Amino acid sequence: MTLNHPIDDAEAARLAADFPALDQEVNGHRLAYLDSGATSQKPSAVLDAERDFYEHHNAAVHRGAHTLAALATERFEDARAKVAGFIGADIDEVVWTSGATEALNLIAYGISNASAGLGGEAAKRFAIGAGDVIVTTEGEHHANLIPWQELAARTGATLRVIPILDDATLDMEAAAALITPEVKLVAFTHVSNVSAVINPVSELVALARAADALVVLDACQSVPHMGVNVRELDVDFAAFSGHKMLGPTGIGVLYGRSELLNALPPFLTGGSMITTVTLEKAEYLPAPQRFEAGTQQVAQAIGLAAAIDYLDAVGLDRIHEREAELGARMYRGAAAIPGIRVLGPSEAALRSGVVALDVEGVHAHDVGQYLDDRGIAIRVGHHCAQPLHRRLGVTASTRISPYFYNTTAEIDAVIEALGEVRAYFG
Ligand code: PLP
Repeated sequence: MTLNHPIDDAEAARLAADFPALDQEVNGHRLAYLDSGATSQKPSAVLDAERDFYEHHNAAVHRGAHTLAALATERFEDARAKVAGFIGADIDEVVWTSGATEALNLIAYGISNASAGLGGEAAKRFAIGAGDVIVTTEGEHHANLIPWQELAARTGATLRVIPILDDATLDMEAAAALITPEVKLVAFTHVSNVSAVINPVSELVALARAADALVVLDACQSVPHMGVNVRELDVDFAAFSGHKMLGPTGIGVLYGRSELLNALPPFLTGGSMITTVTLEKAEYLPAPQRFEAGTQQVAQAIGLAAAIDYLDAVGLDRIHEREAELGARMYRGAAAIPGIRVLGPSEAALRSGVVALDVEGVHAHDVGQYLDDRGIAIRVGHHCAQPLHRRLGVTASTRISPYFYNTTAEIDAVIEALGEVRAYFG
């Protein structure tokens, strides 16, 4: 059944009751958890799914000849099918990784292996070197910046960076000028984990396609919060993490177009990813197994499938709408406080529910401490996006990142506390 009424505070509170970690006091106050951009809390359904796997089906997948191994394999592959359905991909286009960071590195190392001549004829399409260009943006999480810096250093290719404007949106004129025919790959985030900017995916994909470049989407901050269909977005690769979408830690996803995954040389090699091995060489399985060397994170994949069931039951459109409402409330409240500067655009349509801000004269760590004393969990620092902060003229920020289980009362408590911070530290 698809629900279409908006999530209100009463429903948010009911949903929050499914999350055991939300039901606690911190520093004498009921916990207000507003750090879901870093990692989300987990509903009992996810914890139960992992526990059920260990209690009843635990076995190594794709190997044993026994019944438990067959059951474990079935549940593991069902989880893959669930993820594929969730993002509009085919099942063999979903590669398990430990998280988005590993997924992005998997692409970068696959390309550098291809550039070193590994992977045979099929891999040649990925080979890059001097004269070729990789493009990323100034607004990236380090996980979608450093792998490309390192890939450029390993291959001799050049890294170009699309600058952001003062409101942290991408400078699309610069993007058009930078994405020239030498560009082989364009990597950018769907939604910023700091500025809240929702990037114009279709415009960037069009520029990349005109240059015949591959498109890598960091979908870490979009897949948990809005409906994402990789086919409709027309990207070649996408990466996201289970722990930000109600799932366990240690599980992430790399989506890749089937024909690309089957041509990309593997990053990690070893057991479970081969057809035949001699003392001299190995033949690899097709994707996705060719990228899944070693014993896999089976319970975590099953936990992630339970997380997707939960998200589907709540409804991604309703989640997106609710977060937009909480984010807008947070934005309005914070922006109205003298001495507070909210990072990112003011236009609601360009923003996710995340609000990162700078409190004039007060270090973000002090702001975080002040809020924590009131039971409010937010994140402070550079949020793994130092270049973005530098461009916006701050070294750190205070980030409030709500999820659908938060209430407007929690947002108002943050606004109230933020209103006191400057006087307290002044
Ligand atoms: N990209 C973005 C936009 C993120 O917000 C994060 C996590 O904060 C990552 C990449 C890295 O994710 P993980 O640490 O789960 O690999």
